[in-house]
Amino acid sequence: MTKSETKYRICPICEATCGLTIETNGRTVGDIRGNDEDVFSHGFICPKGVALRELDADPDRLRTPLVRRSGELIEASWEEAFAEIEKRITPIIAKHGRESVATYLGNPSAHKVALQLYIPVFLKALASKNLYSASTLDQMPKQVSNGLMYGNFLTCAVPDIDRSDLLVIMGANPMASNGSLWTVPDFRGRIKAMQKRGGRLVVIDPRRSQTAKLADQHIAIRPGTDAYLLAAMANTMFAENLVNVGELGSRINGLDDVEKAVEKYSPELVAEITQVSPETIKQLARDVAATDASAVYGRIGTCTQEFGTLSSWLTDVVNILAGSLDRPGGVMFPKAPALQANSTGTPGSGRGTRIGRWQSRVRGASEILGELPAVCLAEEIETPGDQQIRALFTIAGNPILSAPNGERISRAFGTLDFMVSIDIYLNETTRHADVILPGTSPLEESHFDIGFHQFAIRNAARFSPALFSLDDGRPGEWETLLRLAAIVSGQDVSAADMDEQIIRGRIKSLTQKEGSPIFERDESEIFESLTGTGPDRQIDLALRVGPYGDGFGTDPDSLTLKKLIDTPNGIDYGPLEPRMPEALRTPSGKIEMAPPEILSDLPRLDDALVRTVPTSFLLIGRRDVRTNNSWLHNLPLLAKGPFKCTMQIHPDDADRLGLEDGAMASVKGKSGAVEVVTERTPDIMPGVISIPHGFGHNQQGANLRVASERPGVNSNLLADDSVIDPLSGNAILNGIPVSVSAA
Ligand code: SF4
Repeated sequence: MTKSETKYRICPICEATCGLTIETNGRTVGDIRGNDEDVFSHGFICPKGVALRELDADPDRLRTPLVRRSGELIEASWEEAFAEIEKRITPIIAKHGRESVATYLGNPSAHKVALQLYIPVFLKALASKNLYSASTLDQMPKQVSNGLMYGNFLTCAVPDIDRSDLLVIMGANPMASNGSLWTVPDFRGRIKAMQKRGGRLVVIDPRRSQTAKLADQHIAIRPGTDAYLLAAMANTMFAENLVNVGELGSRINGLDDVEKAVEKYSPELVAEITQVSPETIKQLARDVAATDASAVYGRIGTCTQEFGTLSSWLTDVVNILAGSLDRPGGVMFPKAPALQANSTGTPGSGRGTRIGRWQSRVRGASEILGELPAVCLAEEIETPGDQQIRALFTIAGNPILSAPNGERISRAFGTLDFMVSIDIYLNETTRHADVILPGTSPLEESHFDIGFHQFAIRNAARFSPALFSLDDGRPGEWETLLRLAAIVSGQDVSAADMDEQIIRGRIKSLTQKEGSPIFERDESEIFESLTGTGPDRQIDLALRVGPYGDGFGTDPDSLTLKKLIDTPNGIDYGPLEPRMPEALRTPSGKIEMAPPEILSDLPRLDDALVRTVPTSFLLIGRRDVRTNNSWLHNLPLLAKGPFKCTMQIHPDDADRLGLEDGAMASVKGKSGAVEVVTERTPDIMPGVISIPHGFGHNQQGANLRVASERPGVNSNLLADDSVIDPLSGNAILNGIPVSVSAA
């Protein structure tokens, strides 16, 4: 008989990284609760965390590889699956070259430590420039502006919410998300605390979201016009002598260029396009400038739009002008315990970030941070010629639902010579694969958040060992990736040997690097003292040479993986502290407030100012606490309740179109059309409709039985895959012109 145990685990589903308490009995998961003792999340949990139990037990979750034989995906052993991949991919690479093989990475690849550490190994082995990811359907604009301003794309200033007195949120709904590029569990509790101490929350959004309902002020803005409003706030600050960059003054390049850049964007000029009155904009600028602890934060609505990079940049510009950057209560730079680029290398300067190093073959779109825009993937498969994509690896991604014009992507995938997916589901994308290698349950591998401590509201370190071991013969995701790396590079080497080569290579490079905590130390001694294998061993190395690390004995009471394992509630390293100029990695050693690449995009903003305001509707997305993109709709706990995939429309618009609640509406965009259930609500601006993305689970060949009962519609079919935010390559998924009529 097995006995019940209580285990501790960081939730790997969203960016909030809540600490969970999980009861287990043998291989069975029992109750899941928030861990009150967790140093970071203090007991907070949302329904998705509770649903981890259903995710682990989901009968539709793949546990055995599938290989296509005579057109059917059938179960196969791991060795058969790897053999099939080797047999099929090797001649494609030999005949058509490495660029003929592409990779697409989905959002969950940022939430699993094994994927984060070993996808780069696979990509290096594949050596193809055809890399695509969900980043260009999401946050890439912010990463580009971060990179150009601060020298690294993950150097991201986050609101210091627990000490703020005025928080302005644009195009984000942290009541549902608990933050994005901002790790903030229990957002609601923190806002309530802010309001109790006299602080204010202002939300700027075309929809009165759950976050807007909590706000002291909601400003409805026309979708896609955030850059104008932010430019007008900056304009007001200059015009009314409110600019106070404080101690950052000597560390900034380009303040005068910014003043010139926003000179024309008076609140009066942008009032019509934003549909926000000049007085409202001016007052907001005055409030942000006058409040010592003010912070402006923009997210998905400011990123996935026509002016994503400009909006992301202007958000930081306003914070700098108000003196809020790098100040307690303003926006600050977290210090993560491991693998943060802005705490390695020379403090205060670096190589900076470059974009546009190569172009996509068909439309000539620029490279961004090593990848190409996701909207280019279909055309690169469809268009004949040298370097045409003929084979594809997808890893934890479902671009057919996540990217614009999924029908075209689906058709393109159907023409590939070969496709491999690593995924936990047979879904709308992986149904096209010739081989599917099952990912693990999140509870079957250890967990450490590499990325999200870099956006967290407090500095902390936490690690979760795997709750369950894998069945005999089943590889971890890191081993799967190493097997694939060996196949695509033509090496006959085991995953274990390859892993040892990798860690020894890292140790060697650290011992040869001046300034490293283990400079000139004995490599074998370092290797022998590491804990675990695979991702755990890599994390141990990274923690020990990181900012809180023990330096392999130089500071013996400090951080090691073993210490974290022995401290399941995590270690708190305190509130965020000022990090300027130490965190900068720009060549100048200064904050580049006016990067030339970004200024060169301003004429586009000018041109659109005089564009005729469309008489059709503008489509925006929305987020719900029980969903996370496309991949959690198969869990009964999250799928139940009121139907989420509705079209929200203002009652005045609905009356005009004769649409009652529950009636089917026909929505047409440039790339496609959907029929969707009407939900009348005064919470949305007239002229705007909202449909959440990630639905459309009615495609033949997928096996998501719960999700397919109420499939919803794929709103991204309405998005135009021919347009992007040019600097970031990001798709435009908000502010999409559509027509609406009764179906
Ligand atoms: S908020 Fe995110 S991290 Fe926290 S329990 Fe929910 S899904 Fe997990």
